[in-house]
This record gives sequence, C-alpha cells and structure tokens, in this order.
Amino acid sequence: MDALNRAIEDLRARYASANPLSAAADRDAEQYLPGGNTRTVLHFDPFPLTMARGEGAELVDLDGHRYVDFVGEYSAGLFGHSEEAIKSAVRCALDGGVVMSAPTAHERKLAELLCTRFPAIDQVRFCNSGTEANIWALTTARQLTGRKKIIVFRGAYHGGVIKFPRGHNALNIPFDYVLADFNDTDGTEALIDQVGGELAAVIVEPILGAGGNIPGDRAFMEMLRESTRKAGALLIFDEMKTSRIGPAGLQGMLGINPDLTTLGKFIGGGLPIGVFGGSAEIMAHFNPKHPGHWNHAGTFNNDVCSMAAGCAAMGKVFTPQRAQEFFEWSEAFRLSLNELFAARDVPMYANGMGSIIALHFSREPTERTSDIRAGCQAMRPLLHMALLLEGVSICSRGDLFLSLPMTADHLSRAHDALDRFIDRYKPLISEVLRAYS
Ligand code: PMP
Repeated sequence: MDALNRAIEDLRARYASANPLSAAADRDAEQYLPGGNTRTVLHFDPFPLTMARGEGAELVDLDGHRYVDFVGEYSAGLFGHSEEAIKSAVRCALDGGVVMSAPTAHERKLAELLCTRFPAIDQVRFCNSGTEANIWALTTARQLTGRKKIIVFRGAYHGGVIKFPRGHNALNIPFDYVLADFNDTDGTEALIDQVGGELAAVIVEPILGAGGNIPGDRAFMEMLRESTRKAGALLIFDEMKTSRIGPAGLQGMLGINPDLTTLGKFIGGGLPIGVFGGSAEIMAHFNPKHPGHWNHAGTFNNDVCSMAAGCAAMGKVFTPQRAQEFFEWSEAFRLSLNELFAARDVPMYANGMGSIIALHFSREPTERTSDIRAGCQAMRPLLHMALLLEGVSICSRGDLFLSLPMTADHLSRAHDALDRFIDRYKPLISEVLRAYS
C-alpha cells in the first residue's frame, strides 16, 4: 500500500528530525546492546524515544517533549511514575537494609493483602517476574497431575518464553503445548475432552492481552472451569494484567475460581515482582516443614524493595474501593472512544475492558484473534506515530493502559488526538482496509 507507506514514512521523518538526542542515544546504545535494546517490545522504527524522566502519568524524553503515558509499562505502570506512598515505602525499606537472607515482615503483609483480595488465592509464593510466575504455575500443574500437556491459546502471551503469536516462537520453553482458539467454546471443550487424561493444565488470560485485549466471554470461561475439572486438569488464570479490573480481578468479577492464579506487573508498585498462588491444598506442596515438599527457590523472591512497594501499592493506594472507582472511570473513557468512532463513522473500535484497551481498525468489537485483519495490523504504525507526535504515547501494537494519576485532561488529550487522526486519515483508513480485505 503505497499511500499508507508514504504516510508512515512522512511521520517517521518528522519524528526523526524532532528527536535528535533520542536518535543519538539509540546509536550509542547499539555498541553494547543488540540494536540498542534489552526488551524487544520497546523497539519501533526508526528508533524508540529515550526517556529522561517520568512524573505522575507523564513522561519527558531526552529532547524535552512531554507525553501522556498510555503505554503504562504494558499495565505494570498502574501507579504512574512517582506515587509518593510507594516512593516512601521503598526509601524506608532501603534504610532498613537489603539482602538480609531471611524472611521479613514485608512479604507476610503483601501475601495477606493478596490472599484476602483474590477469591481463588489462599496462599502465594513470590518470584521476580510474571514469566517466572507462569513457569512455576505450569511446572506445579505438571508435577501435581503427573501429566505433560498444556492447552494454551493462539495469540496469548504468558512471558517472553511462553508466547503464542501468529507463527512460531523459536525461544519458547519446550513444554508440550496444544493450541486452541480463545473464545471458541465448543472447539476448546472438545479439545480438552480429547487431550483428557494427558492434560496437566489450561492456562488462560481472562482478557487475551497481546492478542488484542479480547475479553473472554462468560460461557467460554465457565466452560474452561467445568471442562478442566472434569478432565482432572488445573485451570490457571494469568491475571498479570486483569487483576487491575475491579477489586478482585476478573476471577472476582466473573465469580470463577481457577486452581492457580498468577500475578505480577503492578502488584509490586512498579518494582519487579511475580506471584503464583492458589488453594491451601495445592500450595502446601511448597511447605518446607513437610517431608517431600517441592523446592521453590529465588534469591530475590522476597526482595525488600519489591515487597515494601507492593504493600504500599496494594494496601494504601489501590484499595478495593479505588479499584472499583478506577474501573468505572476508565470503562466510561473506553465507551466514550467508541462513541467518538461511531459519531465519526470510522472503522475503529476500542476493545477491552476498563483501563485495558486496544484500538482496532474495525467497526465491530474483536472477539477472536482470527477477526483481526491484515489491514488493521498495517494501520498500527501510522496510528502509533501520529499520536506520539501529538504527545500521546500508546503501545506500538495499539494498546492503551490507563493509570491512577491520570486526570480528565489526560483522557481529553488522547480523545482529541484521535479525533485529529480521524480528520486527517479517515479516507486512508478505509482505503487500507479495502486493499487488505
Ligand atoms: N503474562 C501476561 C498476561 C503478561 O502481559 C506478561 C507481561 N507482558 C507476562 C505474563 C510476563 O510478565 P513479565 O514481563 O513480568 O515476565
């Protein structure tokens, strides 16, 4: 599509000339980091912005431009960049000394906050990332059931080495995966039945995140609960992102209790963390006071900074009441975007739920990954670059994550930037969708 490529190249040229210091920082970093990068998702062409600082819900880059941050660290940035309660908890933890090679009061407190909040979690273990939490959950399921197969969904992301994009991820941990289609209730039910006695677990994100922020429909999620129980397999909810939806995550909202839940991202208040937890019966296998227990290691599992930040974040800031209010506030914003798209008669849709949003180039909500058209994917670099040049930073793949320090003014800036994007590109959007259909 020449017209689309020209439009993208035009924006990239403006971006490059507006950001000479970020361009230089990118070139400089290439000597010691492949492509100047240590986290692939942060790369986009022609080069990513190097950030100088973050304040509240805003970021300032090396060249001095200010952005409303809707990337929100892919949802880990729920508290923004400078929440006082979290900063002072970390300072206090540092003052008390680090690496003490012993339990501290912090992890006990954070464990209590999580277990009393999420209905399916009686006990937890901490680790350092969401990827790690999912690895522990999957190996726990395999060990507990004595089975090897794991059902996963096309488009799902459960970590850098547990992801299932279109095509093959060469670096995946070689578990015995069986792929299913998210929201395909009948097909997945039949598959669970078929794998039956070999199935250790089904792992699912209740809103398929990397696949386009597609909410799981109720019948699908209920079927997963019933069918895994019938097969004697574990149901694992990866609530890394969705735990921010309402006071008790999607498990609370749906009233469905998985066997294991994994958490991470914002739970550590912006510091590294991973969590896996479930019933007291399952978690008892990790009890070192029992003979034959399973060893769960990790030098930084109870890192005082992450634990203290998590306590402040979940105990003082993101209380259950604040979570409910934030969900309602962000859901109203998502709906307002869809009103804008309908009023402008443009094929765009804000998928997702509450503060977890993905912009799709489609008139309808996206319910299956197979509904995402090549034209929609092709439009994304244009949208990303156009909004960035307006001071609105979203994920290059089209996701937006709202954060607690955002104000109505931040939301208006995104709304208005989208309105101008439509002014400028409405005919091109239709042309691209037609060309790729
Ligand atoms: N699961 C989901 C649903 C995620 O979104 C992510 C991170 N994007 C992970 C797992 C992995 O978490 P981490 O990056 O902390 O390893």
